[in-house]
Amino acid sequence: MNRPAAPSHPVMSTAFLKDQIVPLLNQKQRYLDAVKAHGTPLYLVVSDVLTERAQRFQSVFQAHLPKTRFYYAMKSNSLPDISRILVSRGWGLDVSSGLELATALDLGAEDIIFSGPGKTMAELELAAAHPDRVTLLLDSTGECRRLMALLGKKQQPLCAGIRINCQPEGLWQKFGIMPEQLLPLYRAIQAHPFLKCTGLQFHSSWNLNPDRQIDTICSLGRLLRDMPANFLNSCRFLDIGGGYWPEKGEWLVSEDPLRHYHLPSVPLETFAQKIYTALKKHILPLTDLCICFEPGRWICNDAMHIIVQVTDKKMPDMAITDAGTNAVGWERFETDYFPVLNLTRPGLTEQPCRILGSLCTPHDVWGYACFGEQIQEGDILMIPFQGAYTYSLRQTFIKPLPQVVVI
Ligand SMILES: *Cc1c(COP(=O)(O)O)cnc(C)c1O
Repeated sequence: MNRPAAPSHPVMSTAFLKDQIVPLLNQKQRYLDAVKAHGTPLYLVVSDVLTERAQRFQSVFQAHLPKTRFYYAMKSNSLPDISRILVSRGWGLDVSSGLELATALDLGAEDIIFSGPGKTMAELELAAAHPDRVTLLLDSTGECRRLMALLGKKQQPLCAGIRINCQPEGLWQKFGIMPEQLLPLYRAIQAHPFLKCTGLQFHSSWNLNPDRQIDTICSLGRLLRDMPANFLNSCRFLDIGGGYWPEKGEWLVSEDPLRHYHLPSVPLETFAQKIYTALKKHILPLTDLCICFEPGRWICNDAMHIIVQVTDKKMPDMAITDAGTNAVGWERFETDYFPVLNLTRPGLTEQPCRILGSLCTPHDVWGYACFGEQIQEGDILMIPFQGAYTYSLRQTFIKPLPQVVVI
């Protein structure tokens, strides 16, 4: 997950950073109340932020497209409360394993898509046992063969989509089938009494702008033009995956604790406008599909914060907190920048101070600076915007994990 910071990256402006922090500080009493009630450390889920993000995502794309479906990519934050809130708002769930599928079924989700490479027989069986709720996204010809044998044995129908690889470079080759495999795979499915092909999927990760999605839509258009009419008629959906970066962009640390890099991302409206234009040009004239979405990061990133307490101030510029980065599961803050906010002594000035966790490893870093007045023992600190790819990657390592509180 780590990306090395390059000195050529644009520097984050102080005004931009303050704009990100002020709304959080305005809400600080809510966060401190949660600490009062539950102690520290905490994963603090802010449910109204989650539902606002989900609502906005839907409405931005629905402004262009009449037929849409939205699936939350559970792996981006696997906390069941997050999926439960989204399901209650009419969202489907996008799962990537039998474990996630079982959670989605337990939550009562009625519209689940299951994608991912190397599905085991047990995972295929679980999907096949719920044909009314699960659409399986086939990842390979071999997987299709195993699924057909299973459905034949059980005399059970299932709808499946086919994942098309859209990044044929290096290790990204492991996802989906190559375009030239689509026609033979479709023919094999057509000859099967129980498996039905009802759609196509692609997913590309980590997009600060829609260029890659647009390129994929364009080449998919070329591929579909040569497919038989009965294939196009049987396809009901095109799932265009997730990978939308939040508009605040990517934030990275530099050598200087008070200087941060900022790789801007385009607003979701731009993604929607450009993706719609490409679909209208290359795909929708061929077949009238429901467009499906699988966002993860964009939905959950801002909806969870981590709250810790300073247990030891060992030097004027070094504080140790009561939680370690096992709470996020990787050495995130060695490369990614997030502000550390002192909720006890708040302020809009950032001061250099190493904010470290309590694990027995020097890689246990929350940040190299802190917003607020001089940090003291007992202070409550918040690391905001930790909703995506942290909770799901948390590790039971040395220290207990933070408690989850949903507000
Ligand atoms: C990870 C993943 C997503 C979500 O990606 P984000 O970058 O979090 O939006 C969606 N679909 C599939 C198939 C994935 O593997």
